[in-house]
This record gives sequence, structure tokens and C-alpha cells, in this order.
Amino acid sequence: MEMNLAMEKFEKIIEEKRMVDTAITSLHWDLETQAPKKGVELLSGVVGYLSSKSYELATGSALIEAVDTLNECKDELEPVRVRMLEEVEREIDKIKKIPAVEYSRYNELTARAQGIWAEAREKSDFKTFEGTLKEIVEFQRKFVGYRGWEGHPYNTLLDDYEPGMTVEKLDEFFGYLRGELVPFLKRIAVEGRELRGDFLERSYPIAQQRELSRELAEYIGFDFDRGIISESAHPFTLNYDRNDVRLTTRYEERCFSSSVFGTIHEGGHGLYEQGIGEEIASTVLGTGTSMGIHESQSRFYENMLGRSRAFWKPLYEGVRSRFDALEDVELEEFYRGINKSEASLIRVEADELTYSLHIMVRYEIEKMLIEGSIEVEDLPGIWNDKMEEYLGIRPETDSEGVLQDVHWSCGLFGYFPSYALGNAYAAQIYNTMVKEINIERSLEERNLAVIKEWLGENIHRWGKEKKPTEIIEDISGEELNARYFIEYLKEKYSRIYL
Ligand code: ZN
Repeated sequence: MEMNLAMEKFEKIIEEKRMVDTAITSLHWDLETQAPKKGVELLSGVVGYLSSKSYELATGSALIEAVDTLNECKDELEPVRVRMLEEVEREIDKIKKIPAVEYSRYNELTARAQGIWAEAREKSDFKTFEGTLKEIVEFQRKFVGYRGWEGHPYNTLLDDYEPGMTVEKLDEFFGYLRGELVPFLKRIAVEGRELRGDFLERSYPIAQQRELSRELAEYIGFDFDRGIISESAHPFTLNYDRNDVRLTTRYEERCFSSSVFGTIHEGGHGLYEQGIGEEIASTVLGTGTSMGIHESQSRFYENMLGRSRAFWKPLYEGVRSRFDALEDVELEEFYRGINKSEASLIRVEADELTYSLHIMVRYEIEKMLIEGSIEVEDLPGIWNDKMEEYLGIRPETDSEGVLQDVHWSCGLFGYFPSYALGNAYAAQIYNTMVKEINIERSLEERNLAVIKEWLGENIHRWGKEKKPTEIIEDISGEELNARYFIEYLKEKYSRIYL
């Protein structure tokens, strides 16, 4: 096959696949935000059907022939096309060894599983979810077997979310974090001053929270002509393309932080997707480059900006006047309160200092689950033991423990480490940005545009055109280095507590 013809074929099939995948995304959005309980059956069947279509397109001989031809004349292709080719090959490799029937059944299962997980969590009963989770884990183990692995079976899954990441690197990464954070946490517990946190659990009317959430998303630069905010049990961001980016958040009357920081977090993901370069927007490169870099953007906004004094300085009086709960709370108390650190059970509500320990619990459990050294029925006990070991507290119910996260019901194994990597990337990015921009002053002057532009230029617009390692090296001149994260935490929390 001649090169131009192969390129034409390649683009046509990829475009067709994009249509099918967009339809699947749309069904997921519906399933997770609106579909009634009894409607789940039909919709998850459609997801299963469409994913078999997507599978056929990705593994069909037409695409594989086109890819082979293009690979032979790689030297003649523009660099951006070579990257597209690489991404498509990655995708094909991921699924081609998995039998079609199993692939479709798996996708149907995970579409259905979220409803079952939500019910189990609501009832706080692991048994309700156990059978389904067992099936998902069985599929995951089998898929890793089909796909093959190097070093450790879990590496194959890690690489899906963070290309190049391995158990070996993560063991070292988490070992370093643990060695630095655990003694520091102890020091704060012994020597640290008492902080007010009482006001965070007062009553915050949901209608006002909803209004504030929208305003905050807009304030950080989220474009509502190209996106919306909705509600779901577990906040997430989903994108069709740069012109249609959807965020969710959750409102709890007695938890101010949940919606406020949930919205800023998802808003950070949203800005990334809305900021993808127009030239690559409708190609396979038109989305975030890895989950770790994605999380760096959400955490940068949520924590490094959103939990800073400078962020709230120009906003606080306006917010305070709207909520009776904040009447007797000064800006400084508010700032310290939203950064209060203590061992807690729920990951999404954890502070920056203890957060990585929550991820460590999940990382170690997933590693053992995928290698087969523990089984699904062991999970509640192992979860609780690990929480006690790392955080010194033990969940009393499944909903506060093993059932709290949606990820496993979606089949997202290998995903959790991205959160901890995201924190480390974010600190490293901050460390470079602050040499070029006075971040605190920009925040105090309500100039968030300059920050969004910097991130847009260095990260967002590239989509997958640059790999995660290239992104961080081009920004900071070195590979991922967790030292910046530890330095950032120690400096911030020493000022707050000591
Ligand atoms: Zn996130």
C-alpha cells in the first residue's frame, strides 16, 4: 500500500472509531449522572455493543495494514503524525490480544458495576459488591496475562495511565514519601498549634454552594460555552473534545470543602481539556497526556492555588457575607482551617499532608490483588489493617473504608498512583512557574489568566503530542523529582502549624 493511501485509510478508520468512542462516552455520562436505576441494564448493554464495534475497528486488518505501511515510511511523516501513529499502536496493543467476546463482556460489566457499587456504598455493605468486583478482578488478571508484562504484572496496568511507570519506580517514590511524611506528621501532632476546623462542618445551604461552585469554576477560567457542571456521587471530569468538557461535583450541607475544592479540582482537569491545541483537538492526540499530568493540573488548582492564602484574599469577604457559618471566621482562620491536617478515613477529603498515605494503601492492595497474593473477599480486612498501619485509624464501616472509591467498579486498576504522582508533578511545575510569574501577587490581583496561559503554553496545548516525561523535562529540565513536593509540604505546613 502506498503511503498516501495508507494515511487516508488510517485517518478514516480512526475518525470512525472516534465517533463510536464518543457515543460510549456519552452513555457513560448519562449512566453516571442521570440514568434511573432500572435504566442501567439497557444502557450498559449498549455500551457493551458499542465497545465491540470500537474493538473491531481498532483490531481490524484494515487499520493494522495501514499502520504497518505507515511504520515503514515513518521517516517521511511529520513528527506529529509519528506521535499519532505511536498512540494508535499503543491502543491496538492494549486490546488486540484480548478476545473480542471478553472485551465486550468486560465493558458491559463495568458499565453496570457502578450502580452496584453505589448501592453497596450506600448500604455500607461490601458483600453487595463483592461478586461483581471479583468478576472485574478476574478480567483484569486475565487481560494482563493476555497482554504480557515485564518485571511485575501490575506494570502493564500502571503503564496504561502513566506511560513508563513501574512498580520498581513507585516503590521507591512511595518509600521516599513515607520516610519523609510520617515523622513530619508526628512532629506536627506533638508540637503543632491547635487549628480551628469547627466552621467547616457547619450548615452551608446547598443552593448557595451551587452558586459558589459555578463562580469558582468561572473564576479560574473554565469556559461555560465549552463546558458544564453537573452532580454525581463521585466527582469526575469527562471530555468529548476541547469544546465539550463536563465536570461534576457533589454538595453536602455540612461539608463546605467537598463542593468547593471538588469543583476547583475538577475545574483544573477541565482547563487542561479545554486548553488542548486546536490543530490536534480532533485527533488521537487531542486529550491529556497521562493521568499523572492530568492530576497535576487538578491538584495545582485545588491545593497549590485553591488552598493558598493569596487565592482567598480577594474573594473571602464576598464568600463570608453569603454564609452565616463563616460570620465569626477571619481570613487567617479560614486559610488555616482549610489546610488542617489530621488522619482521616476518606481520601477525597484528606489534606495534602496525609493524602499520599491514602494512595499508598490503594497502591499496595492493587499490586497484591493483580499478582494474586490476596483475593477480593480479603479486601475489607486488609484495607482496614493498612489504614491503621499508615494513618493510625481504623474504619468502622465499609463505606468509610474499602467501598469509598468508585474506581474499581469502573475497572480502573493502576490509576490511583496517578494521584500521588500528580501531587509531585504539580510541585515541580510550581517550582518552575514561580521563577517566571509572581504567583501570589497574580492571585491577590485576581489575575488567574496569566497562570492559565502559562499552563496552556507549557502543558495544555500539547495534549498527547508530548509524552509525560517530555512535558516535565521541558518545563523543569529534569525528570519527575519528588523532592519538590516534600519541600513544598514542609514549608507550607511548618508555617501553618509550627
Ligand atoms: Zn482528579
